[in-house]
Amino acid sequence: MEYFTENSAETKEVGKELSERLKPQKRALIFGLKGDLGAGKTTFLQGFSKGLGIKDKITSPTFVIMNRIPIKKGRFTNFYHLDCYRIESYKEMKNLDFEEIISNPKNIVCIEWPERIKKILPKETILIKFDILEGDKRKITIAYGE
Ligand code: ADP
Ligand code: MG
Repeated sequence: MEYFTENSAETKEVGKELSERLKPQKRALIFGLKGDLGAGKTTFLQGFSKGLGIKDKITSPTFVIMNRIPIKKGRFTNFYHLDCYRIESYKEMKNLDFEEIISNPKNIVCIEWPERIKKILPKETILIKFDILEGDKRKITIAYGE
C-alpha cells in the first residue's frame, strides 16, 4: 500500500489507521520502519501508538535503544519501540531479550532502522518505507501481507 502525506498530522493518521486494524498472529507483530533521518518514522509511530490507545507521547528512544509501553486495552499487551540508528551490529541487542519479545503474540514491535539488525529480524517483519519528496511531502509504502 502507498500513501502520500503533506504534513505530520497526515502521517500520524496513516499510522493510526494501520494500528487500529491489527490482529494478533502466532508471534509478535513486527514492523520495520525504513527511511532517512527526518523522514517521519517517529511521527508515524505517534499516530500508530495513539491508535493502540496509548496516551504517552512517543519520542525517539535513540539513547536507550528500546522503550516498552503497556497497552491497556485490546488484544495486545506491550508496544515496543526500538531505534537502531546507533547500533552497528545485531550483537549489541544481546541483553535486550529480543528473541523473547518477538516470540510473544501479545507484543507489537516497531523498529526504526531495521537494516542495522537485519540478521536477527524474522522474515515476517512488515516493512514500512518512508521517502522524503519535495517540501513536507512524504511517500509511505507499507508492505503489508507481502
Ligand atoms: P524520523 O523518525 O524518520 O527521523 P521524525 O518523525 O522524527 O523522523 O521527524 C520528521 C520531521 O519532519 C518532523 O519534524 C515533522 O514535523 C516533519 N514533517 C514534515 N512533513 C512531514 C510529513 N508529511 N510526515 C511526517 N513528518 C513530517
Ligand atoms: Mg525517529
